[in-house]
Formats: sequence, C-alpha cells, structure tokens
Amino acid sequence: MKSNALNFSGGPGALPETVLEQTRVAISALPETGISVLGMSHRSDWFRSILNEAESNLRALLGISDDYAITFQQGGSSLQFAMIPMNFAGRAFAPPEYVTSGYWSGRATSEAEKVTSRKVAWDGRATGYRQLPDLGQLDISNSAAYLHYVSNETVEGLQFPHCETATSVPLIADMSSDFLSKSIRPDAYSMIYAHAQKNLGPAGVTVAVIKRSLLERIPAGLPAILDFRTHVSHGSNYNTPPVFAIYVLTLVTRWLRFDVGGLETMQSINERKAKRLYDALDALEGGVTIHADRRWRSQMNVAFTFGDSRLDSAFIDAAREQGIVGIEGHRSIGGLRASLYNAVTDQAVEILANAVTEFSLERI
Ligand SMILES: *Cc1c(COP(=O)(O)O)cnc(C)c1O
Repeated sequence: MKSNALNFSGGPGALPETVLEQTRVAISALPETGISVLGMSHRSDWFRSILNEAESNLRALLGISDDYAITFQQGGSSLQFAMIPMNFAGRAFAPPEYVTSGYWSGRATSEAEKVTSRKVAWDGRATGYRQLPDLGQLDISNSAAYLHYVSNETVEGLQFPHCETATSVPLIADMSSDFLSKSIRPDAYSMIYAHAQKNLGPAGVTVAVIKRSLLERIPAGLPAILDFRTHVSHGSNYNTPPVFAIYVLTLVTRWLRFDVGGLETMQSINERKAKRLYDALDALEGGVTIHADRRWRSQMNVAFTFGDSRLDSAFIDAAREQGIVGIEGHRSIGGLRASLYNAVTDQAVEILANAVTEFSLERI
C-alpha cells in the first residue's frame, strides 16, 4: 500500500491534503474562473491577484517589510547559485564568502567560482559535514560582497538552529528546505531564496526575497532574464511564469496562514515531529547512527543509517509495507533520510518512529 499520507520524500515533498484537493479541482476548472488552472493566461486579472496574494501571504507569514522585494522565478535554487554572484559580486567589493557545510552549499560555492573569485569562509568537509559554524565568529573581510550560506543542509540533515544575528556584510541564505517551517528574522538578511518543491509547493518556482538597496549594485549588461531587477520591475511576470506552481504555492501559503495559524504554530508542530523521530532513534543506542552531530540536527531532514546498506534496504522494504515512502538517503551519502516537511503530519511521524523501533527490535 502506498499513500500520500506517508510521503517522507526529500523533494519534491509532501503537500497538505487540502491543497491537493483544491489542486485537483483547479485542474478541471478553477472555481473563480471556470477555466482549468493549466490553461489560465499569465496576463489575466485572476493570475495578477494570485501573484499579489502569494506575496502578501509571504509578507504576513514572515514579517517582511517593504524594504524587500519578493520575486517568483524559474530555474530552481541552482539558477540562484549562478545569478547571485552575477548580480551581487561587483568589482567594488572584495570576493563574496561562502560557507561550505554540505552538498548544497558545496554546489553554491562551486557555481560561484565560475562567475567570480570567491572565498570559502568555512568548510565542513574535513569533519564529514556533521557540524556547522557560528556565522558571527567567521573571519571574513568587512568589504566582502556578501556571505552566502545554506540554512538547512537537506542531504546531510544539518540545520542552523537560530535565526542569525546581522553580520557585517550582506547575508544571503539558501532556505530551500526550511523556508516557512519556522519563524525567522528577515531583517538579518539581504536576500533569502527558496525553491518551492521542498516545503512550499511543486517544482517550477523559486521565491527570492531581496533587499531593495542590494539591487542598486547590479552591473549593467546582464541578460534580462538573469538580472534580478527584471523580475522585480515586471512583478514576476516578465516572461511566462509557472502559473500552476505559483497557484499551488499560493494555496500552501493560505493554508499556513489561515488553517495552521502562522509560522510559530508551524514551528512548534515541526519541533514536536522531529523530537518524536530523534527520540525513537536515540533510544536504539547505537543501533542507528544519525549523520549530524546533536547540536546541528535538522528539524526537517533526519539523515541516519542502521549501519550498513543491507540493513538500510531491509528497512526501506519493511517500511514500504506500511505505506512509508521516500526514505532513501540522497545518492551522495546513501543511508536513509526522512524529510519532515510542513505537510508531514504527527500521525505519519508516529508511524515511521514505530516502524524504526519495531525493525530494530526484530533485526538487531
Ligand atoms: C534541493 C536543494 C537545492 C536544489 O534546488 P533545485 O531547485 O533543484 O535547483 C538547493 N539548495 C538546497 C538547500 C536544496 O535542498
């Protein structure tokens, strides 16, 4: 038996059941227009109102002031890895600094290198990407163009536990896998970005929150589609945007704002879910290894292993019989990974935690 209810995929990930229901209806015909969402014009009044609502929901949920522009772009977070240095690493500044704390920040760091000279402010490779640095303690140049980091390392299951205090240089965060999972202090950042497919909707759209003052340093002559100002000045409707993905993202933000009741509630639900699973794993005392050092454990992605690939595969099979899917580890590190994104329920985590316990009692 496979079930949407027990989807622990790392991304694209689980979406709330009510959002899936509304999406099913919208594919046939949107209640507001009678037209399928898949055939709605991006120049329609309806889509303009969806873009406006997505933006105002994000501003309300996160407390984002008008000092920041919000854009919806394509190309995923990988395109942001390339666009950020193109737009913000101007010659007037010292090279941007990158925290390399896992698979995804490693990708951001190596993409930046193709565009500009850049510095690695911290590298966790020597310790196997099990720890994170204290951003405030890093030795970075005061004239660095910016400091880039990944707030939640999706593959290794590491997460910065607190919202960061302001750094001396503009702080840019890839929040692809923990955006809208908890409250943050947006003022600490010059830019935050997150693609939708982990926590906000289907693949195809990436949210970028950019401090307007940062836009002033963008060099002239970038291709329009790669220049953040294009997306800001066209209200994320420069070329055909992913109407469907933005619609579903809007439903998810509506759900968070009005059904869940905001990010503080979402955060406490997520903390409870993560605690349930980590407690079950810790109780096995050596029967499993959790990839992250305790202090840096992610609330979103729990990466662990029973110790060898044979046992891990046996667990995947046993779990599948209960309808649990999506727990294979990322191909770069193997093992197992349970992603506890917003739409994964307490009940689902309970079933997974019990499955882990039962499996180890039987096999180990
Ligand atoms: C999944 C992921 C990415 C990759 O995003 P794409 O949209 O596939 O380019 C980047 N950063 C983080 C933190 C991720 O989890």
